[in-house]
Amino acid sequence: MRGVLVIVSGFSGAGKGTVMKRLMEKYDSYSLSISATTRKPRDGEEDGREYFFKTVGQFEDMIEKGQLIEYAKYVGNYYGTPKEYVEKQLDEGRNVILEIELQGALQVKEKKPETVLVFLTPPCADELENRLRGRGTEDDETIKARLKRAAEESDYMKKYDYILINDDLEKCVDDLNGIIRSERWKTDRNDSMLAEIKKDLSRFN
Ligand code: ADP
Ligand code: 5GP
Repeated sequence: MRGVLVIVSGFSGAGKGTVMKRLMEKYDSYSLSISATTRKPRDGEEDGREYFFKTVGQFEDMIEKGQLIEYAKYVGNYYGTPKEYVEKQLDEGRNVILEIELQGALQVKEKKPETVLVFLTPPCADELENRLRGRGTEDDETIKARLKRAAEESDYMKKYDYILINDDLEKCVDDLNGIIRSERWKTDRNDSMLAEIKKDLSRFN
């Protein structure tokens, strides 16, 4: 059975990175795609671990050669999902998670309607601000800009298949696992199995 392609998007500070890390620790049926980007590595980030860090020229070359499933510009930098790894993992029956922003998410959904779009949000706006401030990685101006962007992004939540509330972390991770497990058993994803059962039953006809 082919794996399920899942996209997790959400406001900056919602807890995407935290939820992904815990999901990978807790369940072994997921592969997390590593994106390519032209932004500079942050302290502690390693090429090939958080991202594949590229020059603009290298990134545009990947676009031209059709090596990306989707790409978008976000705050002045390119971000994109390399195709080869994702397709290989799906073919091997692994569920693949892309943690990407919404323009890219909507591109993938259009090309591959079977993709499951999940939007992660904290329980309320105050908690979003607390988390952004608590993380301590951005200055006040950047935090305000990210909160403004969150207000804009909230218009797009309706385009997602599922809303995932990140209040209690363990519950959130288990809810995400539950969504993906259910998706895997959708009849549309199991054509060949249905055909086999039908064929097997035909001898009683
Ligand atoms: P994102 O990747 O969406 O920008 P992060 O994973 O960096 O968000 O999380 C933002 C901050 O919120 C971090 O300091 C993280 O420790 C905290 N956080 C994440 N999930 C929870 C949670 N369920 N409850 C409380 N704090 C959380
Ligand atoms: P950051 O620079 O904070 O790591 O990421 C900025 C934003 O880019 C986040 O919303 C993240 O989800 C998104 N992002 C990361 N990789 C990709 C990608 O491959 N494609 C798209 N469209 N967005 C991405």
